[in-house]
Amino acid sequence: MNVVIVGGGISGLALAHGLHSRGTAVTLLEAASHLGGNIQTRRRDGFITEAGPNSFVDREPTLRQLAASLGIEDRIRTADPSAKRRYIYSRGKLRQVPSSPPALLKSDVVPLGAKLRMMGELFTRRAPDKDESLAEFGRRHVGRTATEVLVDAMQTGIYAGDVEALSVGAVFPKVVELEKQHRSLVLGMARSQAAARKALPPGEGAPKPTGAVSSFDGGLQVLVDALARSLGPAARTGARVVGLRREGHGWRLSVEEHGQRSELAADQVVLAVPAYVAAELLRPLDEKLAGRVEGIAYAPVAVVHLGFAPGSLPPPDGFGFLIPTLERRRLLGVIHASSTFPWRVEDGRVLLTCMVGGAKRPDLVELDDEALVKLAREELRELAGITAEPSFTEVIHWKRGIPQYNVGHLARMAAIDEGVARLPGLHLLGNAYKGVGLTDCIRNANALVDTLTR
Ligand SMILES: Cc1cc2nc3c(=O)[nH]c(=O)nc-3n(C[C@H](O)[C@H](O)[C@H](O)COP(=O)(O)OP(=O)(O)OC[C@H]3O[C@@H](n4cnc5c(N)ncnc54)[C@H](O)[C@@H]3O)c2cc1C
Repeated sequence: MNVVIVGGGISGLALAHGLHSRGTAVTLLEAASHLGGNIQTRRRDGFITEAGPNSFVDREPTLRQLAASLGIEDRIRTADPSAKRRYIYSRGKLRQVPSSPPALLKSDVVPLGAKLRMMGELFTRRAPDKDESLAEFGRRHVGRTATEVLVDAMQTGIYAGDVEALSVGAVFPKVVELEKQHRSLVLGMARSQAAARKALPPGEGAPKPTGAVSSFDGGLQVLVDALARSLGPAARTGARVVGLRREGHGWRLSVEEHGQRSELAADQVVLAVPAYVAAELLRPLDEKLAGRVEGIAYAPVAVVHLGFAPGSLPPPDGFGFLIPTLERRRLLGVIHASSTFPWRVEDGRVLLTCMVGGAKRPDLVELDDEALVKLAREELRELAGITAEPSFTEVIHWKRGIPQYNVGHLARMAAIDEGVARLPGLHLLGNAYKGVGLTDCIRNANALVDTLTR
């Protein structure tokens, strides 16, 4: 069996590595001149910047196991302990996010009335039988204000989305599962923690997740480079797939590579490309399926890195801060990159990574680099009192940044799965479908390795 994987982001790379390690013949075709997709780490002027993702939460063994299989587990670095402190800009200032339900009592992140309403979570009424939005779910559990401040900020940090549009079942399936079992999330969490304490420790020798925000000593590129080394010539860059058709029991792909058009035969094809690219390749095969895949929306995001010379700015505290939509600001949030990942800057420099745009302000991503730097500096001055002049700036525009699992996504996915099942030997993989985090992408790739090698 030979497998051709289209797309060399983390999803395609993790799949290729898994198949390659099991001795399956695999070819990965990546249109860009570099592997990694959204993951792009750069080094300049004493700063290590991330164009896309910055980190993963080491909560399940998936990513650590991948790193171990590549011999780079010792290069994983956990965030500075101060990164446990996170802030939200609310009612005129930065306020610390409580780390647990008891800490909420002392916190001023929401006003007293909203805190009292949050305590009523224990008496949440049962879920209606429908695909609920994250906002509807939030209001039912913690009330309107906590939804507008806390739930909105939380989704902004992952999806840069619209809390009224995102489907809770699609974006936080574990939370919905917890609700199904326990009705109240607070009760559910307390019971799960008690059960976990009683459970047996993980097996000897298995890599142990730390639960911490993590990256690698040279940024996430370390993972991409190790995957590229492991795949060698099986991963081809500058190879854009422009057509796909059935041939006998297999597939034939048209590839544009270094100005040449060629054809490639495959027993199995995996489209690990963004949904809008997959839709174009699927259109001649199944128009309806292509339409469903194309309907997955993306939120645009601009990333604005501001670097400060040593001594020009005291290191800001904690992981960073998020700004709920309700505040009507022009920033989505800021990562205190140098405080959280101190190894990413040389001697005393400060690096702030500002996120702009998202589903609610896509217009801002259209601004040019200079305007985005100006916007970020104005907002930092007003929100966090930061007036220092950056010595270094870098702007990345993600016109279609983060897939949005809006209400209807689960039904859409069921229909997409059905459509794909009618095309034997063809598979869809990637962040558009069943999880946007790096760990989700790798977990889904591992599951496909199992399916293909069964
Ligand atoms: C700004 C930003 C910040 C993020 N922050 C985090 C974070 O901190 N933590 C986290 O876990 N996740 C984060 N994410 C999400 C995470 O980065 C992505 O979900 C993940 O990297 C997606 O990987 P992928 O392989 O599915 O897709 P992609 O990375 O999009 O890869 C798809 C690949 O397909 C290639 N391709 C496209 N068309 C073709 C073609 N015709 N032929 C061949 N190849 C083609 C593309 O060039 C690309 O390399 C962030 C995302 C963004 C945009």
